[in-house]
Amino acid sequence: MIHINENYLKLNASYLFSEIAKRVAAYQQAHPEKPVIRLGIGDVTRALPDVCITAFHTAVDEMATDETFRGYGPEQGYDFLREAIAAHDFKARGADISADEIFISDGAKCDTGNIQEIFSAGTRIAIPDPVYPVYLDTNVMAGRTGNYADGRYEGIVYLDGSLENGFVPDLPQTPVDLIYLCFPNNPTGATITRDQLKTWVDYAIQHKALILFDAAYEAFIRDDALPHSIYEIDGAREVAIEFRSFSKTAGFTGTRCAYTVVPKTLVAYTSSGAPHSVHSLWNRRHSTKFNGVSYPVQRAAEAVYTEAGKAQVAELVNYYMDNAALIRKEMQALGFSCIGGENAPYIWVATKSDSWSFFDMLLKKAGVVCTPGAGFGTCGEGYIRISAFNSHDNVAAALTRIRKALGA
Ligand code: PLP
Repeated sequence: MIHINENYLKLNASYLFSEIAKRVAAYQQAHPEKPVIRLGIGDVTRALPDVCITAFHTAVDEMATDETFRGYGPEQGYDFLREAIAAHDFKARGADISADEIFISDGAKCDTGNIQEIFSAGTRIAIPDPVYPVYLDTNVMAGRTGNYADGRYEGIVYLDGSLENGFVPDLPQTPVDLIYLCFPNNPTGATITRDQLKTWVDYAIQHKALILFDAAYEAFIRDDALPHSIYEIDGAREVAIEFRSFSKTAGFTGTRCAYTVVPKTLVAYTSSGAPHSVHSLWNRRHSTKFNGVSYPVQRAAEAVYTEAGKAQVAELVNYYMDNAALIRKEMQALGFSCIGGENAPYIWVATKSDSWSFFDMLLKKAGVVCTPGAGFGTCGEGYIRISAFNSHDNVAAALTRIRKALGA
């Protein structure tokens, strides 16, 4: 008899986005005359930069003749893209990362989800709360947790975020082996300073632990003092993996290209305590289960690193960050405490009420959709996430409606 992986039955039915869709549909049916404005989704709304489109077209044309056609490429990605990433995203910032430590993939979601399988079943996991749900759910699927009760899985060490710690969690009180960190953060928009990140790197060195650093929103950092990469911190090459994505940086959510950095100096240990290269394990996993990102997509991603590409990406990012600044300013003027929006495209608003009630109020009185913070973890209760990914006009209209709904 074939048996299922019963760990899947432990998964807390991820009802967040389906519940939002249900409530929005009910509202729209009742008020067909009032279109809703969506500031809930973490998806970009603007077209790919011109340089990417041109590179994409040229690469597609190369596929049209036998002389320039490409079949399977290297699983780890083409050298032209890996070298551009190493030079521009790391070496230019003083981070010592080489091209062969970079693995090109079709998404940071897959990579942050898949990475856990190269670590032992007994790995003790630390996960922030609130959190991008992929980190948690993939460890549940792998059987590293007990059951779900009162909003949490048994066996996970949760790292609580709050207004007091600025949603930058404190070091764990119980020993852990694998730590998920995400800065700039989804959903809170919080950022981490160099000194704060150094305490995590030092912790990992001291405890022979490993940090999974998700920097998918690095391009939104405005403050020059903030680290863009964990490898800007001394010692991180020995204890950290970093995830990046072109999704939010250059509008690739529907095009799909990302990468993961696994330094060759990074080790994890066998059950007898012998150090083993993590790079060689991930290389084995990646080349066994993945056949590479398409050639035209990698050419489109490479174009991001040209001078014109950098300017166009900056323009794209600035467009969303203008929205973020306006949302933060207006919500603060309405008396709400906010995190994020300064170096991230998300604004995390303390609602002074439970998150679903605030969500309903915004929907019914303003026709504006946000994301209730409770959907990202128990520490998200009492907050909403507002996304800056929309047009200037829609954001301005949404804020006017919110002001009116709150009687301001
Ligand atoms: N990591 C974080 C924190 C995200 O918010 C997202 C997408 O929303 C991803 C990773 C996934 O990125 P990708 O589109 O590359 O799969």
